[in-house]
Amino acid sequence: MGLPDADTIVTYPTGELRTIATVVAVAPHDDRLAVVTDRTSIHPVDAAWPDQPADAGVLRVGSREYAIRDAVVAATDGDELHVGALPVRPGTEGWTFVVAHLLDADAAVAEGDEVELEADAATRRSLSLGHTACHAASLALNRALADRWSKAAREDALGAPDFDGIAITSSRIEPMGSVDRYRLNKSLRRAGFDAAGLADALDELAASVDATLAGWVDADAPVRVERVGDGLTERRTWVCELPDASARIPCGGTHAGSLGELGAVHVSFAMEDDGGTPVLAMTTRSTPAT
Ligand SMILES: [Zn+2]
Repeated sequence: MGLPDADTIVTYPTGELRTIATVVAVAPHDDRLAVVTDRTSIHPVDAAWPDQPADAGVLRVGSREYAIRDAVVAATDGDELHVGALPVRPGTEGWTFVVAHLLDADAAVAEGDEVELEADAATRRSLSLGHTACHAASLALNRALADRWSKAAREDALGAPDFDGIAITSSRIEPMGSVDRYRLNKSLRRAGFDAAGLADALDELAASVDATLAGWVDADAPVRVERVGDGLTERRTWVCELPDASARIPCGGTHAGSLGELGAVHVSFAMEDDGGTPVLAMTTRSTPAT
């Protein structure tokens, strides 16, 4: 069995759905067949920060078409192919990181095959809108909570204390939205964040975030994904030209082309409990106009 010797070239950051590729490795994985190609337009779930789910899509070879059941990151140091659960962090020196497309086990795909990969457009679109809404909401949340900081904290691109970057514990991108969770723990309080009374002010907080988002959507702020290279693990950055400043957030996902595409965006908050630590959950929902 051959092993990939170069990181997969990824074309989804520019919004591409379809690409022609060559199969460089095929390996059984659980009850699936893992197919690695030299390039892909299929967004995989990230190994280190699994926020955006994998694209739905198909792999075509000759006249045959196979559903892509999942797409995950795989890695090898030349010894074996580790699929999904990686022994090292993505980007580690000496390792090759690739996208593994998981097909049904009986798929007839072989090393050296030329294949066509195509992501489902509707699924991609809804996840891109959800991911863009997520980042915009996180910046609006930082602004809404800025008055609760009593000490200097790391700032976001707009100059507000970066509550999102400091307190986030998980982010899940969904079709047309997201759910982000923030731990309001002791270290956050020691850093100068005052959570007193927050649980009783969640509706006001949502109204404040919604108002900021409405202004940004009205301004139709342009969004792009910047990258330093085409490889899977190359650093990519979400950039949004907001009216006040250019916002930048490291991001491996896919996005809308502007905030205007989000239509109406609304957030809601809930206070949860994780073993005695309060957790603020923000749910974001985008309702595009068309
Ligand atoms: Zn992101």
